[in-house]
Amino acid sequence: MGISETYAKLRQEIPKGVTIVLAAKQRSPAEVLEAINAGATDIGMNYVQEAAQLFKSLGSEAKKVRWHMIGHLQSNKINKSLSLFETFQTIDSFELAQEIDKKAAGKKVSVFIEVNIADEPAKSGAKPEFETLLELAKGISALPNLSIDGLMTMGPPVEAETLRPYFRKAKKLFDDLKRNGINLKHLSMGMSDSYKVAIEEGSNMVRLGTVVFGPRI
Ligand SMILES: *Cc1c(COP(=O)(O)O)cnc(C)c1O
Repeated sequence: MGISETYAKLRQEIPKGVTIVLAAKQRSPAEVLEAINAGATDIGMNYVQEAAQLFKSLGSEAKKVRWHMIGHLQSNKINKSLSLFETFQTIDSFELAQEIDKKAAGKKVSVFIEVNIADEPAKSGAKPEFETLLELAKGISALPNLSIDGLMTMGPPVEAETLRPYFRKAKKLFDDLKRNGINLKHLSMGMSDSYKVAIEEGSNMVRLGTVVFGPRI
């Protein structure tokens, strides 16, 4: 199956309320274009420079989709990233949120808090604790150019079933924050190997690369 057929099939299988963000790192403009023509609505990129190149190569097609920053954001790339991305999924500190807010200059930027759901020492992301997340979310809510719209999590590189309790924990944090007045819309969790379990546990946004485009080389 080619990229268009695969995307269309996934879009049929995955419930309507779940957004598919195509994780397009290392993919050629032709591959990404094929997915856009098959109906892809959202693209996720890990590096600002790579995203800028892809954006340029796609020309007017690039503006048909929403662009999400799904990699770690370096503060010296914020200016450039603001001209590309509408959504920043990997905000894990108030300082980083403040820097984006300062440079956003009247543009409303959608941000998600990245949660280090298994509290892995080597991983970025905020601590998976309700109080920590509530404080961070409230801080971000008070910044004029940012809108706090979601939580994002990666989880450790283990088998999907092993991830299930972490996904469940992320969903609980998501619900608890909403119950406490944080207007979250998106719970971004699940990748090619784990999206089915993530959706069962309440994800409404999956980030898919391999399952759409094939293995990365
Ligand atoms: C690459 C990537 C994905 C998608 O990974 P696949 O296993 O190829 O589906 C999802 N999220 C992030 C943050 C990524 O970097």
